[in-house]
Order: sequence, then C-alpha cells, then structure tokens
Amino acid sequence: MFLKKIPFLLIPLILFYTPFSRHVYAAENQGIIDLRILETTDLHSSLVNYDYYQTKVDNRIGLVKTATLIHQARNEVKNSLLFDDGDHLKGNPLGEYLARIRGINHGKTHPVYRAFNSLGYDAIAIGNHEFNYGLKFLNAAIKGANMPVLNANVFSVKKNKPYFTPYIILKRQVVDQSGTKHTLKIGVIGFMPTQIMKWDKANLEGKVYAKPIIDAAKEFIPMMKAKGADLIIALAHTGISSEPYNSETENAVYYLTKFPEIDAVLAGHSHSVFPGPIFQNLANTNMTKGLINNKPVVMAGSFGSRLGIIDLKIGKIAGKWTVLQGTSTTKAISDENGRSLVKTDKRLFRIIKFEHQETVDFIRKLGL
Ligand code: MN
Ligand code: MG
Repeated sequence: MFLKKIPFLLIPLILFYTPFSRHVYAAENQGIIDLRILETTDLHSSLVNYDYYQTKVDNRIGLVKTATLIHQARNEVKNSLLFDDGDHLKGNPLGEYLARIRGINHGKTHPVYRAFNSLGYDAIAIGNHEFNYGLKFLNAAIKGANMPVLNANVFSVKKNKPYFTPYIILKRQVVDQSGTKHTLKIGVIGFMPTQIMKWDKANLEGKVYAKPIIDAAKEFIPMMKAKGADLIIALAHTGISSEPYNSETENAVYYLTKFPEIDAVLAGHSHSVFPGPIFQNLANTNMTKGLINNKPVVMAGSFGSRLGIIDLKIGKIAGKWTVLQGTSTTKAISDENGRSLVKTDKRLFRIIKFEHQETVDFIRKLGL
C-alpha cells in the first residue's frame, strides 16, 4: 500500500519542477504588456527651436526637437501612446500671429494641430491658456485636430454638460512580452484649473463654468470604468502639491493619484519637471521611480524642453488588466548650457515652416 502511494505523491513534483513549470512561466509571461506613455506639455506654440524675440535659434525649446525624442522613445518599445497636456496654442509670437493677425482660414489647420496630427498624438488636453483668444478661435482651431481633444471639468452654462469631450476610451491593439496580441481599452480624461473663470473672465463668463477637478474626476471615472476602461490615464493640466486639499486648488495632481482607478497622471501647468529636485520634499513620493502615492506621474517642463515618459507593466489579476509596475522619467532636448542633445525632426519642420516663416517675416516688417 505504502509503496504504491509513492509514485502518486511524486506526480506534483514532476509536474511543477519539469517542463510544466516552464509552461506556467511562459503562460505568465504571455500576459505581460509593456506600455509606454509619452507626454508633451505646455508647449505654448513652441514648434520651432527659435526665439522670435531675439530672432535667433534656441535649442532649449521647440517641438521639432522633442519630436526626435518621441521617435526614439517609440522605437525602443512595442507599445506606446502619445499625449499633450495642454497650453499649446498661446505663448509666443507664432501663436499670437496665428490668433490675432492671420487667424485660422477656412479649411486650414492651425500649425500646432498640424504638428500633432503628423506626430500621431492619441489624445490631447485643453489647457487654461487655450481660452486666451476666446472660445470662437479655440473652437475653430480644434476642428483641425485629428485626435480627441479632452477636458472634463469645463461645463457649458446653457447645456449644463461638459463643453468639450470629457474622456475617451481608446481601443488599442498591444503586443505582450511573448508576442501575443491583446486589445486594451485605455480611458483618457482631461482636467484644468478652475481659475480659468478669473483668468479669462471676459472670454468665459456666462458661457462656461468650471467644476473642481476632483469633483469632475468623481463624476466621470466611474462612467469610464462602467464602459470597460482597463486603464485610466489622466491628462491633468494642473500642478503638483501635497498641501491640504481644497476644491479650488490649482495643483490637483497629488489628489488625482489617490483615485484607485487612475493608473497614471500626466501633469502640467506649472512648467516644472517631475520627477525632479524641486519635488524632493513632497509627501509620499518616490523620486527614483517617479511615483506619487505609488502612482506614476510625469511633468515634462515647458516649450518642448523635455519629453515625459511613463513605462507601465500590465498583467491580468483575477481576470482584470492591472498595472503591476510603473516608473516615470523625462528626457531633455538640451543640456544645462542650452547645447542641443537631439537633431531637428526635419519632416516636422517642413510641415510647419510656412507659419514659422510668416511669423518671422511679420516681426521683421514691424521692425521689432
Ligand atoms: Mn502653461
Ligand atoms: Mg497652464
């Protein structure tokens, strides 16, 4: 009797320590997805590495430089997404020229959106400065954007509904570590500071109102989950502060990271760099991995000076796609002395050079 049982007892050992265990490992590996999320923020119409005030090249700024980092970052991985976090239409003479002098001619696309279209952004957020030229200009301009233009906390007064598309659920085919394809439903939602109602009172009063960022998150995130979002990424045009929460906070990223359903936060607005030394005393922050409250957060400075990069490792737990690990970093287009670290994306430059040249010529005509 006893002897007869021995082979039976050995069965689990044979199964788990020989080919079967390798099979189990391969099956686990098969479900692991590496997903890279790229961010530009606060471009302020800095498409070209050019200082229009001093009329000379400035290699510390310009999407034509950041674009080269975008291509590199995409080429390093199988799966990536690209987002802009807002404040992209205003902030330099090119933006002023387009809005105040030339306007958006019928059927023409604003060069900022032409650049975004050409680089294949997956979605973009509206920033507070997008309102500076008024709603009419903004609405005309965003017609030219081929990707979802998001904001969830600015509401139409008349309709009492979100003025823009509050969120989108992107269906993207991704490849796991073993080469198997999966379709991920990636929820993306946009936010901006409520202070727009003060900063752009003349343009906005009576037309739109702003809800506190956290209230809008509470309203829409359950809807995104109900619609099957596997992951949620916040395009948060707002800064980072762990000061006690108040509903009018301009810098709500810290509190967005506390939502269990939000998997990654793309920050902006304050033109800072996260991870970076100015945030070293922030509560519950892992500066090495770029985490706040254990969530990956990135803020890529301003004017295209940096590209934000979040790397997620995603696997299925109890049948649900879950972020197993996240890290963030930023890459700069120039060193501390303003020396260029990357080549210009010549293809992108060709796409927007007409308006760049128009702006340069206009400034020259004014004799500035
Ligand atoms: Mn800004
Ligand atoms: Mg801003």
